[in-house]
Order: sequence, then structure tokens, then C-alpha cells
Amino acid sequence: MAKISRYNHFQPWRNGNYLAFNARSGAVAVMTAENYEAYQNLAIKLAQSNGSSTLSDSESKLLTQLEFGRFAYPDGREETELVKFQHHLERFDTTSLGLVIAPTMACNMACEYCFESNKKGKMSAEIKSAIIDYIENKANSLSRVDICWYGGEPLLALDVIEDITARLLEMKQRKDFMYTATMITNGYMLTPEVVDKLVDLKVSAIQVTLDGPARIHNRRRALKNGKDSFHKILENIQYASTKLLISLRVNIDKVLDEPAIEELLLELKAAGLEQKLSIYFGQLEPATTVCANIADNCYSSVDFSEVEIEYFRLLLQHGFRIEKLPSPIAVFCLAQRVNAFVIDHEGYLYRCFNYAGDPDRAMGNITAPIDYQHPNFTRLFDFDAFDSNKCRSCSILPLCLGGCPSQRADRNFTEDQLCQGWRHNLIPMLEIIACSRQQRMKTTAKEQV
Ligand code: SF4
Ligand code: SF4
Repeated sequence: MAKISRYNHFQPWRNGNYLAFNARSGAVAVMTAENYEAYQNLAIKLAQSNGSSTLSDSESKLLTQLEFGRFAYPDGREETELVKFQHHLERFDTTSLGLVIAPTMACNMACEYCFESNKKGKMSAEIKSAIIDYIENKANSLSRVDICWYGGEPLLALDVIEDITARLLEMKQRKDFMYTATMITNGYMLTPEVVDKLVDLKVSAIQVTLDGPARIHNRRRALKNGKDSFHKILENIQYASTKLLISLRVNIDKVLDEPAIEELLLELKAAGLEQKLSIYFGQLEPATTVCANIADNCYSSVDFSEVEIEYFRLLLQHGFRIEKLPSPIAVFCLAQRVNAFVIDHEGYLYRCFNYAGDPDRAMGNITAPIDYQHPNFTRLFDFDAFDSNKCRSCSILPLCLGGCPSQRADRNFTEDQLCQGWRHNLIPMLEIIACSRQQRMKTTAKEQV
């Protein structure tokens, strides 16, 4: 017999239908009112029968459909234990290696909230070789290597990226692992020539940040030489989006209100970008003391999840693609993977993007053996959402898995503050996603006529 999933979510939708979502599989479906009623009756029958009742043909057919999207699952192990098993499998997986590498911590911008302060220096030949040696020593047991180029501004050290990539691609040939590369850049130096080079270097996706429309972005993310950056970045993205997947992060705080977001969307539309990138909204947070100056303007998680919904509605209204999906995850971030690190230009190893460049928060250096008992390793790694009663019983656990480990370990957040946005805005977000899918189907149909 089967059980109904504890991760099901339903919401009345258009024409008497229901939107159905399962947080363990990520499946989204539209159910007729009739099917929804049949589902409810079946759920009661399964719960009361304790696995012994006989189902009619129509109930069996419905159950098969529900099992397909994991809205129901074969009786046996408790469902939370299945999620926990998958989580632990991923946490301790040593067949994949994820490295976030900062070839330099220097930057050409002087953002008002940046935690990286005013760093200099580029990765030396010794550190580059230590990274290659580290991967080579593990390579026989690796099935994949995922690199994310980070900084500072990584494009200020393109020669380092070229050197490390060439050596990794040569190793990939010999050791036969899958290789992927992405980059987080401010986009100012992402010229067409650089984009073509990045494609040769197997970089497939880029994250760029714009902090609002030109008038706000240029103030908040000015270049160090005082010049504006907005229009150059936009021009760069126009070409880059023809070769790479571009995700555009828009940092949100109380300064960036709805009219400002709309202004930005109109600027992106004027540049012909509405269907060429995926936009997501980042909650600006005072992650370290260096950026504590912005704390007053930052939203709480609950307030952020409310404004975020409004901004996604604007995306929909203006015909932008919506890519943010409530998808199940196996771990929240690299801090919970045994085989993933951030490495700065001096070879220091970290468990969080926000620590990069601060040796006091490092768990060692790539030139020495990894110490998995180092307090700076264990303090983020040790948290396990399955030890928390609140998380274990949460209906969106597979989407969140307890959230950001650094928020738990570094900041005095209450349990409610730690919950991810999906806990507050899953249902309205599902409606937006469903409308976006319909919009896209209509556009595709029109293009085919
Ligand atoms: S610990 Fe939090 S801030 Fe750090 S990388 Fe993970 S999710 Fe990001
Ligand atoms: S942190 Fe909150 S939203 Fe995330 S799993 Fe725990 S209870 Fe659920």
C-alpha cells in the first residue's frame, strides 16, 4: 500500500482547479476540482486503513499518478528518513568535488556593503600548483569536479583562471571526470572578447549583480575610479547572454523599492534582455562587521519574502522569464558538504563565501593536509536539520534543510528568522510560476504560427 506525502501543498487556482506541489520531488501539477476531491477521499482512506484497504480501479489509477509525482509514496520507511538518507549521502559524498576559487580578492568596484573591504594580491604559482596537486591526489575517486570562479573580481586575474583551467582540462582527459565551471563577476570586464575566452575555458554560467536602475546602481556599485558601471555591464550582458547562461542578482534592501525595481526592468527591456537572463532577488544582509553599516536598511527574512513576491509579480507583468523554482535540494550549501571549499588567492580554505579573504575564519590552507576536526570546519558542518524538531516536522524541509548554516552559527537569529523564504511565500510563488509557464507556452505557440 501507499502513504500520502507529508510534503504536499495545494492551492485553489483558476476555473475551480487546484495547483498541487510536492516539496520532495518538486513536481507541480494542476488538478481538477473533481480530482482534488478524489485525492482527499483517497488520503483519508489510506490513513484509516493502515495499509489494508482495497482500492477501486479509479482510486488505483489516481494513486499511480500521485506516486509518479511523489504526492504519494510506497509504504515502508518513514518519508523524513528517506529525505535524511539522501541528505547524508550528499553531505559525505567524496566522488564529487566543489571548489569556489578566488584567484584574487582585489576588486575594481567599491560597493558600499562589500564585506571584502580593500584587498589586493593575486594567486601565486605555488598556490595554483597546490590546488592542482590537491585535485590530482583525489582524482582517481572523483566522478565530477565543479569550479566556481569568485573574488574579489575574478576577471582581474584571468591569467590565473586560464592556467588552472588548462591544467584541470588536461587532468580531466587522463582521469575521466566530469568538469563544470561557473563564475560570479560584477560584469564590468565581461567584454565580448572575455566572454569568448570564458567559453573556451568551459565556463557555462555567470552570475552578475545589478543593484537597481542606473541611477541607484551607479551610486551603490561605483568603480574604484569613481566612474559609472551600469551601462557598460548592460552592454556586456547583451553579448554574454548569447553565449552563456546569465543569472542576474538584484540585491534588495529597503532603498530599492518597487518603483526602482520597475525602472530597472524597463531599462533591461530597452536593452532587449527580458527573455535572455534569469533574474533573482538577493536579500542584502550585514554578513560581517565590514558591512554592518548597511544593517538599518536590511529586511528581515519574513519582510523580504513579502517584497520578493511583489517583485516577481513585476517580472511576470513585464514579460521576464521566471526561473526561481521551489526545487528540492540535498544540502543547503557547500558548508554542509565534506568535499567542498572556498579557496582564496593565498590558498586559505573556508566553509562559506562570506569568509573568503579572512584567514581568522579559515579552516586551513591548501598547502597542508585538510583538518576535518578544525573548529572552523565543524562549526558550520555540524548542524543537522534532522536534529531539529521544527525542521523535521516542516512541510518544506526538502527545499530548505535548515537554511544557511552561517546564519545559525554566526548570528543570533531566532528559529523563525532562520526559515527560508519558501516557508512564507511558497503558495503565491507557485501561482506566479504557473502563470509564467502559461505565458511562455503562449509565446512559444505564437512563434510557431
Ligand atoms: S553558510 Fe550561508 S552565507 Fe555561507 S555559503 Fe552557505 S548559504 Fe552562503
Ligand atoms: S529552517 Fe524553517 S523552513 Fe527551513 S526546514 Fe527548518 S523549519 Fe523548515
